[in-house]
Amino acid sequence: MRALRFHGPGDLRLEDVPRPQAGPGEVLVQVEVALTDGTDLKTFRRGHPRLLDALPSPFGHELCGVDVATGRRVVAANSAPCGACPPCVRGQETLCESLRFLNGAYAELMLVPAAIARVNLHRVPDRLPAHVAAMVEPLACCLHGVEAAGVEPGDAVAIVGAGPIGLMLCACVADAGGVPVVVGGRPERRELAPSFGARAGDGEGADIVIEAAGTEESWADALALVRPGGTAVFFGGRERGAALAVDAYRLHYEELTLRGAFHHAPRHVRAALAFLASGAYPWERLVTHRVRLEDVPGLLADPPRDLLKAAVVP
Ligand SMILES: [Zn+2]
Repeated sequence: MRALRFHGPGDLRLEDVPRPQAGPGEVLVQVEVALTDGTDLKTFRRGHPRLLDALPSPFGHELCGVDVATGRRVVAANSAPCGACPPCVRGQETLCESLRFLNGAYAELMLVPAAIARVNLHRVPDRLPAHVAAMVEPLACCLHGVEAAGVEPGDAVAIVGAGPIGLMLCACVADAGGVPVVVGGRPERRELAPSFGARAGDGEGADIVIEAAGTEESWADALALVRPGGTAVFFGGRERGAALAVDAYRLHYEELTLRGAFHHAPRHVRAALAFLASGAYPWERLVTHRVRLEDVPGLLADPPRDLLKAAVVP
């Protein structure tokens, strides 16, 4: 079968690889559509400290496809917590000590390991299009991020970043009763904010700020915007060793709360699938391009200006 494999930064190749065979508990999925995301772009440029194992590595992790054994359309998240380690037992499943990440959505077939198939593989509701269902993983991350932010009804929530993740966070905040404001981003992306329950603004003095761009500047912006007594959530990952300068005076005398949010737990995956199926927001507007496997390296090397997410059809 054909699959894209990552050989190193900037080096993604379409190759013929052996057709995977499903063992006990595993589910072989024929990929109907995979989606690109910001993590793919970052990983393509510089590799990834957590998501990739040995090179060359399978690539891509957002997908919807057909369970070859049953003919049912399914989605799967890219990991599953073990349920038994100390963080899992504490209910902090995103910190699971055995978390391993599944890659390989940019291929004709993908084998979902038993550990993921058991808890994080779900049948897709009949009328939900594959390219919308495939957003379950990033939306699950956003639901976790908003849960971590502790949004209360009426809270002013600034979201720094207007990419697909920023816009999904807006929808999650709006549904939690918060008042989302998109800060920064390109004008054509800011125009999408109202469709996702938000408005564009400067976000100054927000009760909660959620950083969703993963850059040094956006992290600093998030910290600058939060009001005394407020909470800043750092959602966009940065490389190991990256620093954040914090004004200790503000942290202490303004009683700021700073916290990170990473990944998702099974409850967020289930909730995300239901949220997508609800049709409450125009999720399909986040998918702006449609490409073949052979087009992905070029797309990631030189992303079109109007790219939000691309649907990759094997
Ligand atoms: Zn665990």
